[in-house]
Amino acid sequence: MAAIKEYALLCLENPLLDIQAPGDDTLLEKYGLKPNDAILAEEKHIGIYEDLLNNYSAKLIAGGGAQNTARGAQYMLPPNSVVFLGGVGDDKYAAILQDAVKQAGLRVEYRVDKKEKTGRCGVVITGHNRSMVTDLGAANHYDLEHLKSPEVWKLAEGASHYFVGGYHLTVCPPAIMALAEESAKNDKVFVFSLSAPFIPQFFKDPLDATSPYWDYVIGNETEALSFAESHGWETKDIKEIAKKLAALPKANSKKERVAIITQGTLPTVVAVNGQEVKEYAVHAIDKSKINDTTGAGDAFAAGFVAGLVAGASLSQSIDQGQWLAKLSIQELGPSFPFPKQAY
Ligand code: ADP
Ligand code: MG
Ligand code: MG
Repeated sequence: MAAIKEYALLCLENPLLDIQAPGDDTLLEKYGLKPNDAILAEEKHIGIYEDLLNNYSAKLIAGGGAQNTARGAQYMLPPNSVVFLGGVGDDKYAAILQDAVKQAGLRVEYRVDKKEKTGRCGVVITGHNRSMVTDLGAANHYDLEHLKSPEVWKLAEGASHYFVGGYHLTVCPPAIMALAEESAKNDKVFVFSLSAPFIPQFFKDPLDATSPYWDYVIGNETEALSFAESHGWETKDIKEIAKKLAALPKANSKKERVAIITQGTLPTVVAVNGQEVKEYAVHAIDKSKINDTTGAGDAFAAGFVAGLVAGASLSQSIDQGQWLAKLSIQELGPSFPFPKQAY
């Protein structure tokens, strides 16, 4: 393994506290939720957090897609390899997050907002489905000023790899673009996650502004389909979509674009440069061992990016992603087993 620079990986997105509980159809109906979805909370949803806490057996778990990925990447890398940026409030929820990242050995540089609450993600589990409703709160106030503050920007300059979660497109596109441009200018590695179907659907323009900077783009099958639909690509073929994602115009021509689409238990589809497409089988596990698949994709991205940072090959990095996802789905929420297991 090549020597890894201190804080080689810098991640940006929304730090959230997950309020997760088993629910039922009545609860979904009450808030007008689909069984399997990820949405931003509107006025009518705001009651769900207290509802989950008071009337269901809710658990509080550190969440936020890219923050999960950052924790997972740090799990696989030497100490002090990963730093995460995002916005939180000054409240008990932020303290829970601080505690979780500390245990994971993840460095965070949070923009702390005195007026706004830490963001919350309500997760309603019905059978194998999970419906997520996010109230971004303080995460929605992340700004370019924080990223460009001398101490934080120094971390950005020092990093060789960036991981940005697509959910941040609803928050602060200028911060994403600053990292994207810094990456291309200095031939760094920029990894982007599509995050959720609503991102290509409703945030197409800011998403398209980032696409030339993607060295790696990661999504699941529903996000890939949503991207294709919002771009008028008349195909539902995941391999075809992966090829097209990989073939989109690219700012840094020194690196090939790689598009990676995970599909739950089905093989992961990987397209390089719009031409070659390969499939990689997942690490199968017995159904009885699965605890909670929330954050499977975040864990996959974590193992994958840790591989890139450590200088592993593309196929090994994919395999590390499958491996870490398999570990994570045996835990509650997007977590990883301790004592640590080695790949
Ligand atoms: P997301 O959580 O974003 O929907 P996926 O469901 O595609 O992402 O899962 C990402 C990865 O997690 C898969 O490629 C696979 O490696 C792993 N994974 C998910 N579900 C399972 C499962 N039931 N068994 C084994 N691996 C799984
Ligand atoms: Mg999935
Ligand atoms: Mg995902």
